[in-house]
Amino acid sequence: MTLSSPTVLKATTGQAVKALLAIVVLLQTALGARADAAFRQWLEVLRQEAIASGIAGATFDLAFKGVEPDLTLPDLVLPGKPAETRGQAEFVRHPKDYLDGKQLAGLAEKGRALAKQHAATLSSIERSIGLDRNVVLAIWGRETAYGQHKSPHYAIRVLATQAYLGKRKELFRSELLSALRLLQDGHRTVETLKSSWAGAMGLTQFMPSEFFVHAVDLDRDGKIDIWSSVPDALGSAARQLKDKGWVAGESWGYEVRLSAKVDCAEEGPAQARPIAQWQRLGVERVRGQKWSDRDGAVAAYLMMPAGTYGPAFLVTENFLVIKRYNMSDLYASFVGNLADRIAGGGDFETPWQQVAMPTTRMIEETQERLKAAGRPVEKIDGKMGSNTRREIGLFQRAQGLRVDCWPGSGVLQRMRGNSVEARRG
Ligand code: CA
Repeated sequence: MTLSSPTVLKATTGQAVKALLAIVVLLQTALGARADAAFRQWLEVLRQEAIASGIAGATFDLAFKGVEPDLTLPDLVLPGKPAETRGQAEFVRHPKDYLDGKQLAGLAEKGRALAKQHAATLSSIERSIGLDRNVVLAIWGRETAYGQHKSPHYAIRVLATQAYLGKRKELFRSELLSALRLLQDGHRTVETLKSSWAGAMGLTQFMPSEFFVHAVDLDRDGKIDIWSSVPDALGSAARQLKDKGWVAGESWGYEVRLSAKVDCAEEGPAQARPIAQWQRLGVERVRGQKWSDRDGAVAAYLMMPAGTYGPAFLVTENFLVIKRYNMSDLYASFVGNLADRIAGGGDFETPWQQVAMPTTRMIEETQERLKAAGRPVEKIDGKMGSNTRREIGLFQRAQGLRVDCWPGSGVLQRMRGNSVEARRG
């Protein structure tokens, strides 16, 4: 046998691979041990901070017994791995898919049945907190499909992982301390402190800090249980909306038809006007529905989540309140429409059109270029809100382009071309 014999070569390669694998395993173990030591060190600092804030050392130790970071969670920054973001569905999904008519119809049907089942609870919420029953049901439906979506994670582990390795460490560190307080105060045990991957808890998805500000014991059994008591979870959601500014007796908003005097570039809270003024500009409700005289004085702003490729809405202060529960136009539109449907309403009149969804990077570049051109763009966040859509519309208007208030390659190409010209000039 010579050295060049394929058999020997194969054997040699096989051994080499085995040796290499052994080295890799050793390295991984060493790295793992180092990561473990770093996590222990991080925990020790956190423990001191927790104790200083009133958490007993014994509570802390019990809470963290056997807890390791969960590297399978989204939104982590891991060495040697490209930053991966699951992103909130509210910002990466097409409005047409997020506001899916079939899903909304199904949730509305279920919501109407639950409205009967929990009629006493909902009456009590309307009476004592001043929240519309259909809106409270819609929050429950949106957040967990009325409790069908379980939150399977141990809150301490996911919050610790996000506070240790996540993209928003400070926020989650503070939520983690609130979660420890839930254990300390006896609201939950290590076994029952369940949350979503992002730390949202219970039937209406409260962050731990929100529990201490807004949660209520609506069924008066002496415990606040937003995980399994429907009255407590719904009462707490209602309380949170009330605390965030809910105006009793006012709608979240209305689907409207625009006029020749109003296009999508009028979108946004900064352009809010009393509804009577919108009426004078020719804006009307769809399906011939009328506003009451009382509505005329209500301030509302134009909101078009898909630009001209879907329905237009005049939305009120209560729309902003729903956004304070979850900061997204699509989320608030979903909750608003679901509430209307539970009350007997139906789908939007104007259909959603299929239009290409811009990438986060495209939206970011659009925002950067608007800002560079001196436009009032506060945040470069790659998320499309009223202000970004309006600024795109104003740019299109000024450039003589078709005004659709939707980020696309055509708009970006024009912006890039303009900046090249500006540099030449
Ligand atoms: Ca209770």
